[in-house]
Amino acid sequence: VGILGGTFDPPHIGHVVAAAWARDALGLDEVRLMVANDPWQKTQERPVTPAAIRLEMVQRALEGTTGLAASDLEIRRGGVTYMVDTLRAIRRQEPGVELFVVLGADAAAGLATWHRWEELPALATFVVVGRSGVAAPDRALGDAFSFAHVEIPALAVTSTLIRGRVEAGRSIDGLTPAGVSSLVVERGLYRGEVHERPTAL
Ligand code: ATP
Ligand code: MG
Repeated sequence: VGILGGTFDPPHIGHVVAAAWARDALGLDEVRLMVANDPWQKTQERPVTPAAIRLEMVQRALEGTTGLAASDLEIRRGGVTYMVDTLRAIRRQEPGVELFVVLGADAAAGLATWHRWEELPALATFVVVGRSGVAAPDRALGDAFSFAHVEIPALAVTSTLIRGRVEAGRSIDGLTPAGVSSLVVERGLYRGEVHERPTAL
């Protein structure tokens, strides 16, 4: 089972392709897009859309896909979100499952800032998705994690780009699945109305 953790504010094609290609390349049964309840590294810096809405957007983003699922595990747990807790919870609930944490090269480079990161290599295989040539995580981290790598077509799409375009009144067509775009419009996201600190469902 693969876990692609994120804020997904909003989810976009980069997330879907990363999850799908990792699942394919590694022969995983499924990849779960794990919606962070309180992504502390981000909530310190900007308002984050309520977790329930981000979960709904991820469900929309995965419509019509195979072997990909939205997970509300971190939202149900509530509180500040740490991957170490999530991995331990899954191993408790589903003994025997082999876990793969899928992450972009940017996230991999920042792994040493994660809560109790030293415990992570024993809990899962860490899989970096990226284009060949994108900087690998630094040597010290590489020794600790023995990363697997999956190449995906480079997609320079980020949630930040999408939020900025919505705020500027520009099109986000094609950057995210249509079901996500329509939810962004319906809920008036990224225009200042819905920003607050995330809470549990
Ligand atoms: P933000 O711009 O708000 O930081 P983001 O697009 O980076 O959003 P996150 O929810 O922060 O999205 O990312 C979740 C995970 O998906 C991270 O591991 C990140 O590296 C990865 N990811 C995000 N965008 C891409 C992409 N275009 N290609 C590959 N991986 C991606
Ligand atoms: Mg990011």
